[in-house]
Amino acid sequence: MTAIADEKRKTGAEDVVWDLTPLYDGVEDPAIQRDLAAVQEAAQGFTTAHRGAIARYDAPTLRAVIEEKVAIEDKIYRLLAFAMLNFTTDSANPQFGMLMQAVMEAKSKVDQALVFFELEWNAVPEDAARNLIADPALRDYAHHLEAQRRYEPHQLPEDQEKLILDKDVTGIQAWERFFGQFTSALRYEVDGKQLTQSEVLTQQFAADRAVRQASHAAITRTLKDNLMPLGYIINVVAADKATDDRLRGYQSWIASRNMSNKAPDAVVEALINTVTSNYEVVARHYRLKRALLGLDELTEYDRYAPLPTKDSDQFYTWEQAREIVLNAFYAFNDEMGDAAKRFFDENWIHAAPGDNKRGGAYAHPVTVSAHPYVFMNYNGKPRDVMTLAHELGHGVHMLLSGKGGILYDLSTPLTTAETASTFAEMLVFHDLLSRETDAEVKLSMLAQKIEDSFSTIFRQVAMNRFEDALHRARREKGELGTEQINALWMGTQRAMYGDSVNLTDDYGVWWSYIPHFISTPGYVYAYAFGELLVLALYNIYQREGESFVPKYVAALTAGNSDYPDVIMREVGVDLNDPNFWQEGIDALAELVTEEEALAREVYPEKF
Ligand SMILES: [Zn+2]
Repeated sequence: MTAIADEKRKTGAEDVVWDLTPLYDGVEDPAIQRDLAAVQEAAQGFTTAHRGAIARYDAPTLRAVIEEKVAIEDKIYRLLAFAMLNFTTDSANPQFGMLMQAVMEAKSKVDQALVFFELEWNAVPEDAARNLIADPALRDYAHHLEAQRRYEPHQLPEDQEKLILDKDVTGIQAWERFFGQFTSALRYEVDGKQLTQSEVLTQQFAADRAVRQASHAAITRTLKDNLMPLGYIINVVAADKATDDRLRGYQSWIASRNMSNKAPDAVVEALINTVTSNYEVVARHYRLKRALLGLDELTEYDRYAPLPTKDSDQFYTWEQAREIVLNAFYAFNDEMGDAAKRFFDENWIHAAPGDNKRGGAYAHPVTVSAHPYVFMNYNGKPRDVMTLAHELGHGVHMLLSGKGGILYDLSTPLTTAETASTFAEMLVFHDLLSRETDAEVKLSMLAQKIEDSFSTIFRQVAMNRFEDALHRARREKGELGTEQINALWMGTQRAMYGDSVNLTDDYGVWWSYIPHFISTPGYVYAYAFGELLVLALYNIYQREGESFVPKYVAALTAGNSDYPDVIMREVGVDLNDPNFWQEGIDALAELVTEEEALAREVYPEKF
């Protein structure tokens, strides 16, 4: 036996890699080059055969044409998945990089060749289109065809659409890319060291207040020094969006986002109003946190401070994680358990950490003729167990929604994409919490869960309020100075924390590094939508028990085959009821009540 301890504890996930042979035998597989050529040829053939003819087809012909298109998309998705999955496990492998590039270029050619279909379909006169959608021959594609037509009033003639696509590359997309490159290159000086953004942000979670303070000052300094370009970029983004919305006839800055989310404007408005009128829940947690940290007041750099509770140095082997997660899935429902188990048994998971492996985690649906894969970096932390549950939730959702074999049912809009993943996390969290006997560890688990939920619900909605104020102001007043933008940010963030956190004036510039505002305006509320939906679903599960289970499984299986509000109605959720969102908030508020009670029990001297 050697006396030298392993630098890193073995988890057993070191050899957990996926089997991609159901897609291709390897990067050298000659079938790849064959398929790349064939798929582009098929797309060209599709154009030659059907361009200008879509409006003339009857229902059975249209179905055959759609299936021809689906076969092309299926092939390109397999290629794309194979390239992407490999690339993320080892981005330094030049063969993986080359394949990725080749597939991306082929996909762009295929997309360009197929784009006429949507435009022509949307141009089919309303009565004829309605008859086709109602025809039994097109039943499997009815929702897809119907949802597509919502874009008709906002479409421009084909030559203009092409012109916009062309000019966007050097227009809005160029600004997005510049923002990404510019902010990645920014450095933040702490104690003479030049830190990257992720390094300096990590220090906001330090137990030592001086460390948090110093990194906070560094972030503020760098952002202030670069406020001119950052302020200019956000102005360009807002102005470009205003132009686009005007040309396409969208009534508000958020309308196009709601449309792609398949969420009616009124539903989104009800969500926002409910969250903003419950900001007091946030304040309750931070008042408690202030007492536990023993501080006179909390400032923005105390928000992520760890509680002074017992360190959670809990370690889970891969085998233990597998058992915890599968138990939670099986305890809920056998079909869900069996589906999750396949990911382990059939090697659909890549969990081994690697030097050139991408960070983070994801689940990828691939396509209906294949099966999904799960990607993560497993290190044995409690967080990793939750990530495994989260990604398997996605994976099972994808597997279920692909069961019917309809490609367009496979992926769900942003607003419901996180349903199964967040729900799976809830199952595991409540399972672990109920098994924990140490009140102090319980308290830290609860606090962690609450802060995670706050950042997906309240923080994202407060950011949505900022975006709302910004886009409106840009449209009404023209270009905005950075002082004006700072004021909009502070107003919307102070509204959320109330008197529980004293946001200093330095915080005014902290809007300027957030990428969502630039890359996907309007995105952020989808996080709150998903999390509140799951809190409500979990409540119903608690209340109804067994009878909830098949309805929930059916909702997951429905995938993208209908609008989320229609699918959720079957589970007993009415997204159109403005009071619906309150149920999720109440569940979260209950967790805060539990946290307050535990804190008094563990630290009676602090109250
Ligand atoms: Zn997710």
